Amino acid sequence: MSGICVYCASGPVDEEYLELAAATGRAIAEAGHTLISGGGNVSMMGALARSARSAGGYTIGIIPEALMRREVADVDADELIVTTSMRERKRLMDEMADGFITLPGGIGTLEEVFETWTGGYLGLHTKPVALLNYRGFYDPLLDWLQNLQGRGFVSAAALARIAVVDDVGAALSVANPSVT
Ligand code: AMP
Repeated sequence: MSGICVYCASGPVDEEYLELAAATGRAIAEAGHTLISGGGNVSMMGALARSARSAGGYTIGIIPEALMRREVADVDADELIVTTSMRERKRLMDEMADGFITLPGGIGTLEEVFETWTGGYLGLHTKPVALLNYRGFYDPLLDWLQNLQGRGFVSAAALARIAVVDDVGAALSVANPSVT
């Protein structure tokens, strides 16, 4: 059993994105893994954790005390860890996870995945990092990064440290080290 950490949005409520989050939670649970998430019960974060539990999965939510109200703390989590800071939240999420999946998200999601991605690239950890480029959501970012590679700002090795995939099954295969 592995701990799979998922980064995703805390804002949109479009059915399509909630379904993607739910499918991810379900797949993690059905594979027998533990979901590690930001411990919020809003938007994609909420759909992800609820769906993992509905499919019989174990969920660990990690949320800073200051965000408990704003992100509606996931009090139904099997373990809800309340931290005193955002840094502590991220440290615990990173430490407890064996692999990472990034779904569509905003600046919070981007901040999280960039830190995990660059940490892997710099050799600070060896855990797999998947970017689920659902329906091209991340194409503009990936195009920009390719452009930066062409100009020497980003190395090919850095780009290779994150696996860009386009469906939940592929993301889980990347993030679950016991399969890859
Ligand atoms: P967003 O993608 O902006 O909707 O945010 C998704 C999640 O990222 C939310 O749970 C935010 O609390 C979280 N987040 C925002 N900023 C940070 C940060 N600096 N470090 C870790 N998580 C963050």
